[in-house]
Amino acid sequence: MGNWHPECPQRLDAINDQLLASGVMPFLEQQEAPLASQADILRVHTHEHLAYLRSHSPAAGYFAIDPDTIMNPHTIEAARAAAGSGIAAVDAIMAQKARTAFCAVRPPGHHARPDAAMGFCFFNNIAIAAAYALEKYQLERVAIIDFDVHHGNGTEEMFSEDPRVLMCSFFQHPFFPNICQGHPAENMVNIPVDAYTNGDALRLLASDIWLPRLEAFRPEFIFISAGFDAHREDDMGQLGMVEADYAWITEQVVQLAGHTAQGRVVSFLEGGYNLSALGRSAVAHIRALATL
Ligand SMILES: [Zn+2]
Repeated sequence: MGNWHPECPQRLDAINDQLLASGVMPFLEQQEAPLASQADILRVHTHEHLAYLRSHSPAAGYFAIDPDTIMNPHTIEAARAAAGSGIAAVDAIMAQKARTAFCAVRPPGHHARPDAAMGFCFFNNIAIAAAYALEKYQLERVAIIDFDVHHGNGTEEMFSEDPRVLMCSFFQHPFFPNICQGHPAENMVNIPVDAYTNGDALRLLASDIWLPRLEAFRPEFIFISAGFDAHREDDMGQLGMVEADYAWITEQVVQLAGHTAQGRVVSFLEGGYNLSALGRSAVAHIRALATL
């Protein structure tokens, strides 16, 4: 999105570098992401959204949808691959070729609304995968966990009042995108928290508020919007998570998935802009996902 932009290609290099340095890489199987089809995208986005992106995609240089969310000639293809990774991960897990998957993708997705790109996001990767899993595999209950420092407003908009989906999230509030309804839908378990809330407090909130709802819901598949910008070294937000907190949350989700969802978990990279903290946190998360 331009050399100055925090949502930069080096983010994926930082994760790869830490996977290598930590010795985790040899235990993982890596796959290239296929492109999501138009039908996959249109389960959660409007025709108008797709048409807008296509008609404004620049042949060269950049087109700014808003000051933060900028297209270059390759953006649509990258966004289709980011969304396609979730489809491939769902298929691999349902075919029992894998138990869990981490989609190391960009651009991220959880701010993308049904009819608009925003907040560095063009297609809502996690929503596209969840909608695909519900339709293709006739699942009745899927859970979405979102621990990015920002509210996953796009995902919430897509599944609000959908009884097949339970979404649990915490996020700094008040904060971008500032679309936090006072009374969200019954299936939205939102925990808005003040700036400078630390990892211990967030663990307690997750234990007290998320886990009982998730246990009662008995999801058949769990999706994670894994943003690492709630890390205390990440200047994009002011929360106090550290690597051990990401590992702990992931362990809780994996354990729950083992009880109710045959272990099925797909996680998507969302935010995380301090490259060192991002790499270390993603590896802690992936280690727990892979139960290494
Ligand atoms: Zn974020």
